[in-house]
Order: sequence, then structure tokens, then C-alpha cells
Amino acid sequence: MTRNGPTEGTRTPRGREVLVSGAGVAGLALAYWLRRHGFLVTVVEKAGSPRRGGYPVDVRGTALEVVRRMGVLPPLRAAHIELRRLTFLAGDGGEIASVEPQLLTGGVAGEDLEVRRGDLASALYAAVADDVEMQYGDRIEALQDSGHGVDVTFRGGGRRTFDLVIGADGLHSHTRELVFGPEEDFHRYLGYCFAGFTLPNTFGLSRETVLWNEPGRAAALYAVEEGDDVHALLNFSRPEPPFGAFRHPEAQRDLVAGVFAGAGWEVPGLLAAMRDADDLFFDTVSQIRMPRWSKGRVALVGDAAFAPSFLTGQGSSLALVGAYMLAGSLAGRGHEAAFAAYENSTREFVTLNQDLVGEGGAALFPATARDLEHRNAMLRDLPAAPSAQGRPAHSALALPEFGSAASAGRTS
Ligand SMILES: Cc1cc2nc3c(=O)[nH]c(=O)nc-3n(C[C@H](O)[C@H](O)[C@H](O)COP(=O)(O)OP(=O)(O)OC[C@H]3O[C@@H](n4cnc5c(N)ncnc54)[C@H](O)[C@@H]3O)c2cc1C
Repeated sequence: MTRNGPTEGTRTPRGREVLVSGAGVAGLALAYWLRRHGFLVTVVEKAGSPRRGGYPVDVRGTALEVVRRMGVLPPLRAAHIELRRLTFLAGDGGEIASVEPQLLTGGVAGEDLEVRRGDLASALYAAVADDVEMQYGDRIEALQDSGHGVDVTFRGGGRRTFDLVIGADGLHSHTRELVFGPEEDFHRYLGYCFAGFTLPNTFGLSRETVLWNEPGRAAALYAVEEGDDVHALLNFSRPEPPFGAFRHPEAQRDLVAGVFAGAGWEVPGLLAAMRDADDLFFDTVSQIRMPRWSKGRVALVGDAAFAPSFLTGQGSSLALVGAYMLAGSLAGRGHEAAFAAYENSTREFVTLNQDLVGEGGAALFPATARDLEHRNAMLRDLPAAPSAQGRPAHSALALPEFGSAASAGRTS
């Protein structure tokens, strides 16, 4: 049921109507589980169409059970990138160590999934497309919680009332801004900025990551397949976020070029490619930490509520688990009790995973010469084989069964 354009002022008595803002990992997984629990779901997404490709993301631990219960494990296994190694290079390009990626990510080889973000989103989209009203190329302009429903005005001009609105619109969530206040109230800056972009894979790399480090600056190349584009990441430490650069792509490029001036290895070529890249993505490395994930009839999920940052590698997994827990908590309950249950059941898991920053993730980007030396010594001493257990935080939540009563959306 992929429709475009909202209907003016309609309201169906058949079940609770939920608007989800954002068709990313969290929004699509939430839409799926809400439908399973009997809700009528509309998803509004600012992009004009589903997004393909993208950088690789991980699905691990508890989140694997979420995708298994959704029935999308087979296509995701087929899309799995079997990353073979992670090679660390010194400032002069010399090799420091080459290790199995799971040694640092705490993942479990043979179980965890690593897939392109677009492949994950496509699998989730295929699971909901027939049952959910998708509204691409639009976004929430304003919303008003009347106590009995949420009156939404869309940028495209439509107006409609929903029983609930869920913000799944990412780290810089507009829903959060509208309902909970400015991002800086919840933004926890982790001391780094990064530029991500793709360039032709002229490096002969395949299913591997190469990471070049100097104190406070790092360049990574992530190759899925030979012949495919390679994902480049230029990451650098900075005490304060460079707010002035955010709205101006040229200022972002200048900032990154200035920070990496004089660097060796392939960095000059990467800077040249960044200048030409049409998919440059510049941001701070940050988390979102909120005291509450809901207010009235509006709640948040995924990066909008609890972005853990890519240093944890847990963003997609938290989005999947959060979506499952939120939808299940709503089944058969009024929204106040449901949102409280969602937080009570999910917050500890989220916090454990957000706290993984520093346990491997930040070790990828040491900011001082001393930290870099320690990191390199640690790499040389790593055991030969990864543990088969994975990090306890990844599996710290045992997923409850919420049942799939199709009538649940009518209750309360
Ligand atoms: C460079 C990079 C590397 C990463 N690497 C990893 C990794 O290795 N492993 C991992 O697990 N995670 C990784 N992540 C994080 C991961 O992508 C996110 O944590 C995860 O996708 C969270 O999903 P989400 O659905 O909450 O948010 P998002 O994926 O950000 O999706 C939000 C959606 O909302 C839409 N949207 C935004 N604003 C609006 C609006 N106003 N109205 C309507 N729609 C809107 C967006 O277009 C998007 O479709 C990485 C992130 C980045 C940036």
C-alpha cells in the first residue's frame, strides 16, 4: 500500500493510527511490528524514494533475533559482507597489524550480520510495503498534541490527525526538536568529526578495511567488493564541534582538507576525491542521551532517541531492538503505560551499548601520540582468534514475546 499524499482530515475507527517519521532502520522495523500488533501505520520520509547502497552496518546479538522474527534473516544472510580483515597502518603507511575484525568489534563470526545500510533498509521495506502507507518526499512541518490525538501538518500541505506519532528520524530528529526541544539539550559530543564519501576502488581492496592513523586524525577505506566503490572515512578529533561548518559543504571540505594537510599514505588522493564527491556526509561523532523518550502521545526510537554513535557499531542493532520493544509495549496498552513499559524494558540495554564507546570503538581513533602507542601495542598483543561469545552488551536483552493479536491496536 504505497500511497503518496495525505488525506485531508481523515480518521478511521478501525484501529489506532500511528504516524512514523523516518523510513530508516528504526522506522521501517517499527512500522512492521506495529502492523503485526494491529495498528494502522503511515510512514512519512523526507527522501523521495527508498535509499539503496550506503555504508555497511552491523546487526548483532539481540537484534539478530528481531530480524529473525521478522522473517528477513535469509535475504540479510545473502547480503552479508564477509569482512576478512582489518589492517592498521602507521603515519608512513607501514603495516602495524592485520586482524580479524571481530577481535575489535566484539562480534561473533558466522552469526553477526554486516550488510550495506541500503540492503538492510530494502529487506525491511519489502516486509512492510504492502501493509503500510508510505509517504515519500514529505515531512512533518508542525504537530499539536491535543490530548486526544496528534494534529499533524505536513510540509506538502496535508493535515491529518493520528492517535500517536513516533519520531524515527535519526540523530538530528525534527520530531525531537518539535516536541522535546533543541538538539543541544540531548547531544553528547564525543570529540570527533568525520567526513564520509565514496570513490572508485583503485586500491585493489576487497572485503577489508584499512585504517591509517596519526594522533588525532585517521583515514579509513572500507571495501565491500573489488570493482565496487570504496567507502572512505576521514575522522579527526576536535575539542568543540565546528558548528559554523555544518550548513556549508564547502566549509566542511575546507575544514577537513586543513586538518589533513601534510598527511602521508593515500590521504592526498582521498582529499582530492572528497572535493569531487557528490555523496559527502559530514557530521560530528555524537550520542543522543535523553531522560525520557516520550511526551504525551509522541515517542522516539532509534538514533532519534538514543543514537550510540558509530564508535559502538550498535546503531542499527539498537534501532531494531528499540522498534520491536516499542511496538510490543503498545500492543494492548494505552500509550502512557506503553511508553513507560518501553523505557523500563529497553533503557538498560541501550545504556550498556552506548557505554561501549571507548571499548574498541574509540581505540580506532586515538587522539594523542601516547594513546596511539598504547593502541598499537594492544593490537600487536591481540589473541589470534576472536571469542565466540561476543560482547555481553550486544545480547543483554532477552526479547519478550508480545504475541501478535491483530486486535491490540484497538485496545485502550
Ligand atoms: C558513517 C556512518 C557509519 C556508520 N556505521 C555503522 C556501523 O558500522 N554499524 C552500525 O550499526 N551503525 C552504523 N552507523 C549508524 C547507523 O546508520 C544508525 O545508527 C542507524 O541507521 C539508526 O537508524 P535510524 O533509523 O534510527 O536512523 P537513520 O538511519 O538515520 O534513519 C532516519 C531516517 O529518517 C529520515 N528523516 C530524517 N529527517 C526526517 C524528517 N524530518 N522527516 C522525515 N524523514 C526524515 C532519513 O532520511 C532516514 O531515512 C553509522 C552511521 C554513520 C553516519
